[in-house]
Amino acid sequence: MARYTGPACRLCRREGKKLYLKGDRCLSGKCAFDRRNGKTPGQHGTDKAGKTNEYKLQLREKQKAKRYYGVQEKQFRTYFEKADNTAGVTGENLLSLLERRLDNVVYKMGMAASRKEARQLIRHAHFRLNGKKVTIPSILVKVGDVVSVKEESKTSEKIKALLENMQTKATPKWLELDAANASVKVVAIPERSDVDFEFNEQLIVELYSK
Ligand code: SF4
Repeated sequence: MARYTGPACRLCRREGKKLYLKGDRCLSGKCAFDRRNGKTPGQHGTDKAGKTNEYKLQLREKQKAKRYYGVQEKQFRTYFEKADNTAGVTGENLLSLLERRLDNVVYKMGMAASRKEARQLIRHAHFRLNGKKVTIPSILVKVGDVVSVKEESKTSEKIKALLENMQTKATPKWLELDAANASVKVVAIPERSDVDFEFNEQLIVELYSK
């Protein structure tokens, strides 16, 4: 499936939920979802649920998760297969894998206003994983890994501003922030309760289990 290149705000309106894809704008009065009171996209957008069936609900839940984490269909399916082949509850395993993506970690440590910005910073090699250069946003972190800002990047004006933001952001309990050294350590595997967004992951499992 082709990569979506249209307006990010349209995705929130399509899913009927704020997906926080545009950083600070999402928290401001400029949020398109808030301004349109959650109406669906298009000139004649409607806030009615319309005709729904089981498949539609499952599909929408999967699309919501893909868009929230910024993952393409093929990769999302790979995560599902991995989650399904791991002991435990498949839906919870899936969310845990998505949380462990490097772009999500950089976002959660407060170094980016959105996962999209985190991906861009990672691709521009501003981070180190266990002291080594890393440019792949989809890498899955594991317990003991340390993600840090590259020393040379700390002098960039943009990175300096982001570092200030990092110190004011709350970090999830599976990550241990070392603000002084602009790094974060993975101290646990994220659990279902660590996902601070409303998902019905069971619907996604049902969709892929057909
Ligand atoms: Fe979604 Fe609002 Fe952010 Fe746009 S500004 S991406 S509509 S939450």
